[in-house]
Amino acid sequence: MKESEIQVEYNANDIEEKWMEKWNLSMYHFNWGEDPRPQYIIDTPPPYPTGNFHIGNALNWCYIDFVARYKRMRGYNVMFPEGWDCHGLPTEVKVEEIHGITKNQVPRAEFRRMCRELTAENIDKMRKTMLRLGFSVDWSNEFVTMDPSYFVKTQKSFVRMYNDGYIYHEEHPVNWCPRCETAIAFAEVEYDTRQTKLNFVHFDKVDIATTRPELMAACVAIAVNPKDKRYKEYVGQEIRVPIFKQKVTLITDEAVEPELGTGAVMICTFGDKQDVHWWAKYGLLLVKTIDKQGKMTKAAGKYEGLSTTACREAIIFDLKAEGFLYDQKYLTQNVGLCWRCDTPIEILSEPQWFVRINHESILKAAEEINWCPEYMKTRLQNWTGTMEWDWCISRQRIFATPIPIWYCKHCGEVMLAEESWLPIDPNEADPKKACTCGSTEFQPEIDVLDTWMDSSITALHVTGWESEYELRLPAQIRPQGHDIIRTWAFYTILRSLALESKKPWDSIMINGMVLGPDGHKMSKSLGNTISPEEVTSQYSADAFRQWGAVGGSTGSDIMFRWKDVVSASRFLQKMWSIYRFSMFHLNDFGPEDAEKFPIDSLLTIDRWLLSKLNRLVDAATKELDGYNFDSTFKAIRNFTWEILADNYLELVKGRLYSDKLEGRRAGQYVLHQTMKTLSFLLAPFVPFFAEELYSRFSSESVHIQAWPTIDKSLISEEAEAAGELIKKITSEVRRYKSDIGMALNAPLKKIEIYNADIDTGDISGATNSEVELMVGAPSFEYIPVGVKINMGLIGPRFKKDANDVVKALKEEDLATIEAQQASGKITIVVNGQRIELESEAVVITKEVISDGRGVDILEVNDAIVVIVK
Ligand SMILES: [Zn+2]
Ligand SMILES: [Zn+2]
Repeated sequence: MKESEIQVEYNANDIEEKWMEKWNLSMYHFNWGEDPRPQYIIDTPPPYPTGNFHIGNALNWCYIDFVARYKRMRGYNVMFPEGWDCHGLPTEVKVEEIHGITKNQVPRAEFRRMCRELTAENIDKMRKTMLRLGFSVDWSNEFVTMDPSYFVKTQKSFVRMYNDGYIYHEEHPVNWCPRCETAIAFAEVEYDTRQTKLNFVHFDKVDIATTRPELMAACVAIAVNPKDKRYKEYVGQEIRVPIFKQKVTLITDEAVEPELGTGAVMICTFGDKQDVHWWAKYGLLLVKTIDKQGKMTKAAGKYEGLSTTACREAIIFDLKAEGFLYDQKYLTQNVGLCWRCDTPIEILSEPQWFVRINHESILKAAEEINWCPEYMKTRLQNWTGTMEWDWCISRQRIFATPIPIWYCKHCGEVMLAEESWLPIDPNEADPKKACTCGSTEFQPEIDVLDTWMDSSITALHVTGWESEYELRLPAQIRPQGHDIIRTWAFYTILRSLALESKKPWDSIMINGMVLGPDGHKMSKSLGNTISPEEVTSQYSADAFRQWGAVGGSTGSDIMFRWKDVVSASRFLQKMWSIYRFSMFHLNDFGPEDAEKFPIDSLLTIDRWLLSKLNRLVDAATKELDGYNFDSTFKAIRNFTWEILADNYLELVKGRLYSDKLEGRRAGQYVLHQTMKTLSFLLAPFVPFFAEELYSRFSSESVHIQAWPTIDKSLISEEAEAAGELIKKITSEVRRYKSDIGMALNAPLKKIEIYNADIDTGDISGATNSEVELMVGAPSFEYIPVGVKINMGLIGPRFKKDANDVVKALKEEDLATIEAQQASGKITIVVNGQRIELESEAVVITKEVISDGRGVDILEVNDAIVVIVK
């Protein structure tokens, strides 16, 4: 290999594009057949196909890819599938926007077709970004939830869970988003504080404080605390509601807080979860005053048709006018919002489909799963503990998996699809048999399934559930964000238990969110978003991936900083120049030479480097087993930069350029092993760069090679200590040269080293001087050669005579001064007078003489380094 054949600069984009073209992606395919390797199946998150694979996705995929590539090299049969979670509202809204229609203006099937078309285009765009970032996805196991081949499984799972009693249909209060016009699950409600007004209203007999006067028409009872003396005499009596004039009973309940408002509260159907609770507990009437679009119903009388906010204002106006409203106070309140659109939710009672939640079994399975980081388990446990309602799985939308159900028009019986009829859309096909009553006329279910019903069977899908292969549940790992623990993680555990009585995965790895360069969550409105493409076009995919590796640790949020990308890119350049240097010297040293190289001809510094290299392999292996990408990559970077470049290469240079074969071969062997090992260690993180490095060692891809094993025989405390000494002596000699103003490559007369068991060839090379290892102890003589006078003492004392004192001191015999100094007093004659000086007045300078030569001495650890002048 000629140095000129390897470009001076590492041109990342050219090289990355080259490998994107060259790589045969089938090397990443999972083997479903017999395989001696243990399986490692990743339950990859299927992103929502927005057409934009954002930086948060990209970070998550970096983590997954690090693991996938590492495990492949460790000898696992790895599946890194790619799914697409297609269904849902954002696509419906986008389609309405693009075509300038609303979903009800075109036939259902046509609307679904438009959604599918847009989704397919978006998936294409996102796939390109993933390829550009070098993810080792197994595209032979791609899944698209809108494809019949996938949603047939969602439907099968529905049918089985229905038959097993997990799924039921019931009218029940549910969280409802009036903007999305659909029921949503509790997990999809997000809470935020909002300022509102607490209105104080006279009812007859009692006063009420309420934040939602628009619900007065739906007031079905008044409640007070049983201990509250103020209202004791009215308990059990009828109270008349102002304006609407319905009569409701005053009841008592422990949950009412007497200190809040007036101590008397309206129970309405439904203001909040507490209302639902009381309504069920006391068997109260159900009055529906809000419809599915968030408008007031007929039950609200003259307010019918108003929005809830307009109705609130109107009622407050009327209450004031009629003298019922006597006070208003500001109040900060926790409000439930739709997680998709931030609209305040309502609680409406509607017939819906539900999945029963078995809290104990979910908590038990969570215990059997390895959580990384461990504390994320608590989030799931807390969430499970607070779930009071079952999971509402029906949605009043269109682009989603159809519920395979019809209702008999004659007797109302539910007709559930048989598994053999699936996939099916009940709106497009009739059941293939008659109702038990004999009727063949059916009403299809127009509700559709929650998209989490699709995505919560990914673990089942990727492990071969309902496929031609045997089921391989549990998958080995689920990587996901912490924002969807209570949805995706929770539902997946629930479904795997319900359908297969097994936990979905051995481990779950939670990643953080990406924050913008300003430390805030990235969002379009803050203008702090950065796309992965911006990073790859300005720097490289490998630089982006390195930012992902070193920027944060699993579970914690990570800030995007350009300077991390810049330093990542700088590291690649540095590593490249080391590689270029090494390859130039490996011109006449190939794998066969490495194979038959006699290890015992290594020099100390070679053994030092190989010991450090093997420790690096050991550390990287342990850290990667614990998914600690940041510490792994930092260890690789420190080794390369500090141990290899700053020290080893400097020390071995002399040998590499020398014509003495043996020492040169040893250096070549070390470079060969180190470059090869580094290309393996770097492969999971910077796949393009590592491939380029390895391409000069083999025609095979680095990504199908085995992870390096540790050669314990090469890890040696002794070699490390000796190497450290050589390193230290060399740097002390270099410092010595620079202190006395010598050029670093200028030769010294000779260097003698005492009390050190090392070989000296590399010190000689690095200092360009003759070096001899000496036995025994050096003998020194200190000869006085001059005197330094402390003018700080002499000046003030002798004033105008000071110069004469100095002159006299200089003329005095050095040996005499030294002898007097030892006794504590120096006596000299100045201008005929005897003068006594304290011994601090002078310092005798000495020269070190060894064997009759002038020398300088450096002490390095226990070794004595004699530099002959
Ligand atoms: Zn909404
Ligand atoms: Zn029937």
